[in-house]
Amino acid sequence: MSTSLDSIDAANTSDQPRRDWTRAEAEALYDLPFADLIFRAQGIHRRNFDPNHVETASLLSIKTGGCPEDCGYCSQSAHYETGVKATRLMDRSAVVATARRARDAGASRFCMAAAWRNPKDKDLDRVCEMVAAVKDLGMETCATLGMLTGDQARRLQQAGLDFYNHNVDTSPEFYGQIITTRTLQDRIDTLGHAREAGLKICCGGIVGMGEQVGDRLGMLMLLATLSVHPESVPINLWNEVKGVPVNDTAERPDPIALVRMIAVARISAADHQESADRSRYQLARPPRHDIQAGRRRARRGPNRGKCRASSRDLTLIRFEVGIVPKRTFGFADQPGTPETPVFIAFVTGWVLAIPA
Ligand code: SF4
Repeated sequence: MSTSLDSIDAANTSDQPRRDWTRAEAEALYDLPFADLIFRAQGIHRRNFDPNHVETASLLSIKTGGCPEDCGYCSQSAHYETGVKATRLMDRSAVVATARRARDAGASRFCMAAAWRNPKDKDLDRVCEMVAAVKDLGMETCATLGMLTGDQARRLQQAGLDFYNHNVDTSPEFYGQIITTRTLQDRIDTLGHAREAGLKICCGGIVGMGEQVGDRLGMLMLLATLSVHPESVPINLWNEVKGVPVNDTAERPDPIALVRMIAVARISAADHQESADRSRYQLARPPRHDIQAGRRRARRGPNRGKCRASSRDLTLIRFEVGIVPKRTFGFADQPGTPETPVFIAFVTGWVLAIPA
């Protein structure tokens, strides 16, 4: 056994999540024989969660397009001609109605996303009202609004926000090739504000933009060495967007590479303690019907059939896999090919996130 694996096994006897992961350790895990890697990831998942239960979340873009940031993968950036029409911030009543439908369809978490560099205080007033109203529906609340000040994070927390999503996107080394209008440190500062305000953190990135395996592991190590690990780590597979710079560099990772990365995410920052959230998982509805419906629909082609899971579900299903320390998730972005997310789901457990 290599020195790096020896050190991992020695360190993992502790009950506490580790914050001292090294790139060499991540590489040693990534390079394990596939079955050995999956076995390790599965073991950690099973020690922390019921392996056969999932949580379902729903996402809503409450303010779309016209964003001043230049994230090279994003259809909503005003820097690129992508055909996305900028909209105003939605009305609270429309947001709440969508959240209620999502709840009634089985979602337990509702995420509100706005394409802003950072929220203006008058916009934040309205978002806080939405958060409070969605919370009153009995749902777990999440928001992604760009950079936050400490005061804004506190206001969101006081309004009832549970999670703040703010991704680091990629490794520190590759970051500058993807975004220039916001530094990685800006993002880490916002994560700090959210954490200090008592919010849980949802933070991950995107793969398939042209980064190397080392960049994917570098991103994981950035997260695994934060002073407190994110409760959710979204691992998104880049979904082709015409008109953005990433189109010129994108390279789709093969499914096995994606599974390896998610397994490393699970292992490298796993919470070794029994999750306080476990009961919530047990209340969650398994996604079996959605998946089976999606498969049937995929066989018949998009826009046909009467299954509840639409072709859009297949293109945008987000699944949380692994625990960093609680969960990670990613996109299944290929219509008619749900096999990869389903497979990954069995690696480490997942949460479905369906666009509202
Ligand atoms: S900040 Fe968000 S909405 Fe704006 S360009 Fe970047 S990813 Fe897109």
